Amino acid sequence: MTTLIVVLFLVAAWCLAFIGAPLFVWTVAVALLLAALGFASALGATALLVCSAAFGVLALLLNVLPLRRAVLSGWIFAIFKKVQPEMSSTEREVLESGDIWWEAEMFRGRPDWEKLLSFQYTRLTAEEQAFLDHECEALCKLCDDWQIEYEARDLPQAAWDYIREKKFFSMLIKKEYGGLGFSANAQSAVVTKLATKSITLAVTVMVPNSLGPGELLMHYGTDEQKKKWLPGLVDGSEIPCFGLTGPEVGSDATAMPDVGYVCHAEIDGKKTLGIRLTFSKRYITLAPVATVIGLAFKLRDPEGLLGDRSKLARDGDLGITCALLPATTPGVHIGRRHYPGAAFMNGTIHGRDVFVPIDAIIGGPAMAGKGWRMLTECLSAGRGISLPALATAAGQIGYRMTGVYARFRRQFKVSVGKFEGVQEATGRIAGYAYTLEATRVLTASAVDHCAPGVTTAIAKYHMTELMRKIINDGMDVLGGKGIQQGPRNFMATGYKATPVAITVEGANILTRNLMIYGQGAIRCHPYVFPEMEAARENDLVKFDKLLFGHLGFAINRAVRAFTLALSGARLARAPVTGEFAPYFQQLERMSAALAFTSDLTMGTLGGKLKFKERLSARLGDVLSQLYIASCVLKFYLEGSQSEAERVHARWALDHCLSEIGLAFDGFIRNFPVAWARGLLRVVVFPLGNRFRPVSDRLNARVADLLLEPSDVRERLSWLVFKNGGERDPIGRMEHAWRVGLSSEAAYVKYFRLANKGAIVGDTVAARLDDALRRGLLSAEEVAQARAYDAARYDVILTDDFSKEYLAGDFAAEAAAAIEAAGLLARVA
Ligand SMILES: Cc1cc2nc3c(=O)[nH]c(=O)nc-3n(C[C@H](O)[C@H](O)[C@H](O)COP(=O)(O)OP(=O)(O)OC[C@H]3O[C@@H](n4cnc5c(N)ncnc54)[C@H](O)[C@@H]3O)c2cc1C
Repeated sequence: MTTLIVVLFLVAAWCLAFIGAPLFVWTVAVALLLAALGFASALGATALLVCSAAFGVLALLLNVLPLRRAVLSGWIFAIFKKVQPEMSSTEREVLESGDIWWEAEMFRGRPDWEKLLSFQYTRLTAEEQAFLDHECEALCKLCDDWQIEYEARDLPQAAWDYIREKKFFSMLIKKEYGGLGFSANAQSAVVTKLATKSITLAVTVMVPNSLGPGELLMHYGTDEQKKKWLPGLVDGSEIPCFGLTGPEVGSDATAMPDVGYVCHAEIDGKKTLGIRLTFSKRYITLAPVATVIGLAFKLRDPEGLLGDRSKLARDGDLGITCALLPATTPGVHIGRRHYPGAAFMNGTIHGRDVFVPIDAIIGGPAMAGKGWRMLTECLSAGRGISLPALATAAGQIGYRMTGVYARFRRQFKVSVGKFEGVQEATGRIAGYAYTLEATRVLTASAVDHCAPGVTTAIAKYHMTELMRKIINDGMDVLGGKGIQQGPRNFMATGYKATPVAITVEGANILTRNLMIYGQGAIRCHPYVFPEMEAARENDLVKFDKLLFGHLGFAINRAVRAFTLALSGARLARAPVTGEFAPYFQQLERMSAALAFTSDLTMGTLGGKLKFKERLSARLGDVLSQLYIASCVLKFYLEGSQSEAERVHARWALDHCLSEIGLAFDGFIRNFPVAWARGLLRVVVFPLGNRFRPVSDRLNARVADLLLEPSDVRERLSWLVFKNGGERDPIGRMEHAWRVGLSSEAAYVKYFRLANKGAIVGDTVAARLDDALRRGLLSAEEVAQARAYDAARYDVILTDDFSKEYLAGDFAAEAAAAIEAAGLLARVA
């Protein structure tokens, strides 16, 4: 009887822990246990009395709040306040900036899948779609990537004019100010499309639409400032840039030496309150052509001229401040151009003793010292649009163009896309391209709802890393065709420019190691940040409530993670049935494991975690892959769910789970506290890490699909600019694909005859004539095989140039010489 009662209690306790029952339910459960043991006479009278007394004391201590605060949580509160790492106001501002979104659900270990499934993607309005179909198409047609990157090192004047005329620079400026007022999703689609034509074009358009004067004015500008600057930014008569980075500071921009002193100066005979600035900035995009500079600097007011605000600051140091100044302001010097491997404008700006009136501060004097918060808030949104869009462009071109090449290029008499080794790379390209579009559309749609700082950091880091992998794989598959640069090459500019995407808007190593989990753990955790705030505010009542909520949360997530692991995640919830249900379940399981691991890690390492970058990077990887897998599931469920779609989605999800397994495994193996290492292994992987990399079979299926027309091919490359005609590298491939598909059957028939030796001749043309003569191919088949062969040959050609042209004498080498590249003597 006693054994039965104990077993029943343990099962009940397990269930209560699994569902996360509140404290009073636990109290009742233990009381019932004692009553049952007493009723069954399982304990002697003394033992029962002792146990009941102990239970009574504990129950009172835990359930009577004033008592609990006085005895238990008050004591823990005192320790917590002592060990809590110092947080600077800048760090707090960064942590507080931006919103939390779906990634918080994945962090907290019990995702509400309905929230994800009912979330609406931002649909493009008719106006936004028309802009993509007409203005973007027209702008792409004005650009010749080779000419931009190699000859002019600039966009053609016609493109600059068109950008201004059609308000490309004002996509994020609201309609009421005359801007286009596009959604984040539409901005992302525009940048993706432009990037498939020219990286320089995309970067030029995206910079004024991301962190910079336009966005800062929209959010924080005074009415006066909006009136003064927005019309020019909308019609393109003003070109903005934003200067944060300098020679001494890159990632750690808060340490900038650039400084402004509040002072008076005589302007037009009038005593004017203003700021005297000295600064040196580098790497600034659009600086060489900018007419208005957004500048970040540290503002000092040693004489207290700004009034009360400065008295609050030590030594009159007000902190990072953002101001807008015309590039023509005396003392401002726009420096020479950098050359970042692509031709977009990028350079230096210097200023010495530059005086600007006080209302140059964005938002006016009230915003003095609030610059860092402004920047991080805006960055957290913009980071989810521009660079993810560039990365997706690489995915879209990679999918579509590598597919064409791998189908048409034959070696050893086989399309190279059919070799298993090549399929490893093309399978990855296909899977990553699916992942990129899925993540792009959900992240951009999220930015339309809020400013999700952690989500956008995840998107920025992982999408640009996938971009790098796709381009590397693409280059391998293309072989010499990827290497030989010229008007036919559609990959080399992206290859050269990839490090730009990796480095800007939060360099990737820093983003992975410090930001994703560092910010994610504190912002997404339901208790940690509120506990820190309670300690800062010295609010014991609040802390006590949070502390006990936190304990219950940690126990629940540990039990859930362990139970779900033992059940192979079958006990987890899934909002769908069928083949994709186990993915939801595995993600919920790993989400619980992450929540438990986070608590254990913060509990054992505390503030030291900040310096254990390798560890926090791995937990960031888990969080990121949980988010990315959610994007993929949503994208699949919103799609056609065709066979091709199903296979791509499974590839992407298997990859995410395998990455989660790897990250957890590495984390546990390297965790510095031995007992916690053992506990983690038992809770997270009681049966070992069963997640495996994508199977060869699945990889081969997506790789095969990359070579075929399919709904997924269209869905994953819908933004590729395809209408550039036969002088455009992608236009050429598109043409070949169309001709090739309609005539491939005839060519394959010819190819087999030739391989068997059934037809003879030194060239393809001669062998086709022979086939016609012998009646082995009809006249129509011969015509089709000829068309196919011409298209095939065009796909494999690369460019060649005269020595003069490569020495920079572009005039001597007319376009005809480049055209001659296509006329290489053929050896069939
Ligand atoms: C083409 C281009 C355009 C740009 N445009 C602009 C612009 O318009 N305006 C502007 O203000 N800036 C711009 N930047 C600057 C860009 O934001 C910086 O390059 C970036 O912040 C990194 O700074 P850094 O290059 O000095 O690298 P560093 O800060 O010197 O970093 C070097 C390496 O150390 C890593 N690292 C640094 N700290 C940590 C840490 N705590 N933990 C782990 N790793 C760390 C970084 O990830 C990086 O890998 C641009 C840069 C480029 C290259």
